Amino acid sequence: MKRRKTKTVTVGSIKLGAKHPVVVQTMTKVFTTDVDACVRQIRQLEAAGCGMVRIAVPTKADTEALAKIVAKVTMPIVADIHFSAARAIEAIEGGAAKIRLNPGNVKDPKDIKRIIDCARAHKIAIRVGVNEASIRDLKSDVPASQRTALMLKELKSYVRLFEKCGFENLVLSAKSADTVRTIEVNRAIAAAFEYPMHLGLTHAGLPEDALVPSSVAIGTLLAEGIGDTIRVSIAGDPVQEIHIGRAILRSLGLEQTQRPQLVVCPTCGRCRIDVVSLAKKVKGLLANVDKPLHIAVMGCVVNGPGEAADADIAVCAAEGKGYLYKNGKKIAVVEEKNLLKALAKEIEKL
Ligand code: SF4
Repeated sequence: MKRRKTKTVTVGSIKLGAKHPVVVQTMTKVFTTDVDACVRQIRQLEAAGCGMVRIAVPTKADTEALAKIVAKVTMPIVADIHFSAARAIEAIEGGAAKIRLNPGNVKDPKDIKRIIDCARAHKIAIRVGVNEASIRDLKSDVPASQRTALMLKELKSYVRLFEKCGFENLVLSAKSADTVRTIEVNRAIAAAFEYPMHLGLTHAGLPEDALVPSSVAIGTLLAEGIGDTIRVSIAGDPVQEIHIGRAILRSLGLEQTQRPQLVVCPTCGRCRIDVVSLAKKVKGLLANVDKPLHIAVMGCVVNGPGEAADADIAVCAAEGKGYLYKNGKKIAVVEEKNLLKALAKEIEKL
């Protein structure tokens, strides 16, 4: 998939932009002042495949805690700034690798200039964002059809401000809770700028409600080559956000991983085994495998092997027998109860 051409922006130990993998990120969801809980959550996120993490710093106590957190973790930390230039500067001096700023919330241009100077001195990145809610605040009667153009106009004015100060270590974002508008505005930004882009829906909802809109918005844009870092916002566990984000990347072949990929047939009237339970056992087996394999669990020997022809190894079972296929060719027939053991042996050989 051809990525849109961008500049490269450094965020601590990682780089964002077309020449680098798309990074999945999230936010911590414990009090920032609870340093131990934050560090614990960041380590869980790292284990799940999170590339950078944003931390809210609404008070001075939070920016002090951020400095302690930065010292204890290796993942780049992004400070989430809302209204205060003082918090932005404290966060940068405390070691944030990037700050997220909506210049519309920091009214005084002199404050923005101070933040830019500080970011430049510390060689950190700034994510400049607009969101639809702030556009509505500006003009309460703006119809939905005009919001995309207004968001782009607003973002252009912010970017000009940064560029006038000679600061180009920027990541751009435009957030909306609306799937179609998120796609439209990000396409417009991609056409207007060469800065890396952060994708995501705001206030996407409970996991079961957020999954589809986020996947459609983020997936559509990524499939068009747009987007360099993504965040799936859900009202729930941030580790789940990372799992969903990685699944979106995986489905588009954008995930850089050594992890195996498991596909499972959807089952139908031909199925003679408990595919779900077999798939769960195979998933358990794959949890300790560090190879980028494609493993398939199929429900029958009629169509299954053909459907799994692309898999490194496919398994299926029927009438007490377990069947193993390698790249679509049958390589072994075992007792059904020994199927997992046989699969483990084949995986070892790969
Ligand atoms: S693999 Fe077999 S059981 Fe599974 S969906 Fe295809 S035909 Fe149905």
